Amino acid sequence: MHLAESTWTDAAAVETSLALVPVGSTEQHGPHAPLGTDALAAETVAAAGADAYDGDVVVAPPIPVGVAEEHRHFAGTLWVSEDTFRDYVRETVVSLASHGWDRVVVVNGHGGNVAALRELCGRVTRHDGAYAVPFTWFDAVSLDADDDPPVDLEGVAMGHGGPVETSLVRAVAPDLVHEDRLAEVAAGAADGWGEWHAGTNLAYDSAEFTDNGVVGDPSRSDPELGAWLRDRAAEKLASLLDRVENRDCPDDGE
Ligand SMILES: [Zn+2]
Repeated sequence: MHLAESTWTDAAAVETSLALVPVGSTEQHGPHAPLGTDALAAETVAAAGADAYDGDVVVAPPIPVGVAEEHRHFAGTLWVSEDTFRDYVRETVVSLASHGWDRVVVVNGHGGNVAALRELCGRVTRHDGAYAVPFTWFDAVSLDADDDPPVDLEGVAMGHGGPVETSLVRAVAPDLVHEDRLAEVAAGAADGWGEWHAGTNLAYDSAEFTDNGVVGDPSRSDPELGAWLRDRAAEKLASLLDRVENRDCPDDGE
């Protein structure tokens, strides 16, 4: 059940303890993909995961701005501080729990949100009478040739605005990707994330290691790959929901 499309009376009638909160970012994804890529991905995976799950799940509207100051040099990128983000997501989760949806998976589409989500979900679980855990879709999906991918995965890696994210957007909102720019974007993209020395990333901002904002080769993107990624992520999320629903939580029985 998608909260934003439902009435309060429908929400009152739904019988489940499970909820999903999609969390994205509004940040540059190169000259070819939209600023809303991460929020779109989180929303898409949350919806597909809820569909794949055998039971009712409440799906909250997506949170569109996250921890993304690392992309501040690129126009249109928005961000909030980690403190603000943690408070906002935590209070959103707590408000879901107040209605009885107290087992919450935060479906994340942005790498910069990962550390803050892990911390706040731990705090919710320890102190707020609910269980929460973050699920970052691109970490959950393995680019495994054994899973019968529709394209050759050689050279396909997460990157940023690279083949994985660009494929997902091409699958669900093809009009938002500028395919005519892919070759030029690929030529100007960085090979890897960060500026590494002695196991240490010296760079704080993406502009320090990528001129056009992209890491990886988006010309390797394919809408069929995007649909495959979405479906693999949905399967993983559905299996996680099953586990979360049946898990003994610390405060059960108190
Ligand atoms: Zn992204």
